[in-house]
Amino acid sequence: MITIGSYVKPKTLEEAYELNQARSSRVMGGMMWMRLGNARVKTVIDLSGLGLDQIEETDNVIRIGAMCTLRQLEQCECLRELYGDGIRESVRHIVGVQFRNQATVGGSVFGRYGFSDVLTALLSLDTFVELYNGGTIRLSEFVKRKPDKDLLLSVIVRKSKRMFRYDSVRRTKTDFPVIACAVVTGIVNGKETWYFSVGARPMKAALLEKQWEIPLDASEEQITEYAGKAASEFTYGTNMRGSAEYRQHLAEVLLKREIRSILEEKSGTQKVSD
Ligand SMILES: Cc1cc2nc3c(=O)[nH]c(=O)nc-3n(C[C@H](O)[C@H](O)[C@H](O)COP(=O)(O)OP(=O)(O)OC[C@H]3O[C@@H](n4cnc5c(N)ncnc54)[C@H](O)[C@@H]3O)c2cc1C
Repeated sequence: MITIGSYVKPKTLEEAYELNQARSSRVMGGMMWMRLGNARVKTVIDLSGLGLDQIEETDNVIRIGAMCTLRQLEQCECLRELYGDGIRESVRHIVGVQFRNQATVGGSVFGRYGFSDVLTALLSLDTFVELYNGGTIRLSEFVKRKPDKDLLLSVIVRKSKRMFRYDSVRRTKTDFPVIACAVVTGIVNGKETWYFSVGARPMKAALLEKQWEIPLDASEEQITEYAGKAASEFTYGTNMRGSAEYRQHLAEVLLKREIRSILEEKSGTQKVSD
């Protein structure tokens, strides 16, 4: 059970940051995860009065405030227009709509949970996090850091012409994933680049970047080979949901389906423009 001494809703980010420097203070997102823990928290800091609950689109980026809910992410039109249904797919299995109306993007990213679908999906895109004290850094760097006393203000996705796919395997519909995989591709610095993000291994999501020119008419065998190569570059572990070998096998299958789906869309687009 969690025990909370006092609740504070700061009026400024500076106040929130200062309060959070005490060892026994904790920032709250939606509190969906935190409340399940066993902790004595002297002061819980509610960021909900600081305007961090909007998704803003500019010419170059999509800025997702830390207090945006997973449901906002799921329903975000600008993300859907750019990257299709992948973002929606990455959150739609998380418990239920009421839950996703409370759990936040900030809590999901700051927590760096091994099982996180949200982290797996965001990591595969050109994503940054904005921290109160630590500035703006790449999400791929942030995931490697240990949690500290900083505040996560927003998650920033740089807009680019990339194709995105997301899939996961769960033993039952709303359980944690046994494996979660995202594949993104686009032209980066003039070269065709593929990004593979695999989470719930059961370790937290990691990112792999490959400059592969996969032919649009790649055979099933070739796609299997690319997916196998990508999957083999991650490490896997065993827990109650599955063994390391099973997870690697699932990763190969999901990555293969995602690569195939992207190639099909690409060749469809090319045929239309021919
Ligand atoms: C039963 C259950 C099932 C779940 N299933 C899944 C699943 O299948 N897939 C999945 O991806 N996720 C799953 N989750 C995780 C969920 O999606 C959220 O990631 C989780 O609840 C954390 O979000 P929150 O807003 O509740 O954060 P909280 O619980 O409020 O906070 C989590 C941590 O982040 C810190 N924090 C929060 N916001 C900030 C901030 N802005 N700056 C700094 N620190 C901050 C808090 O201090 C705390 O340490 C599940 C959670 C539960 C409880």
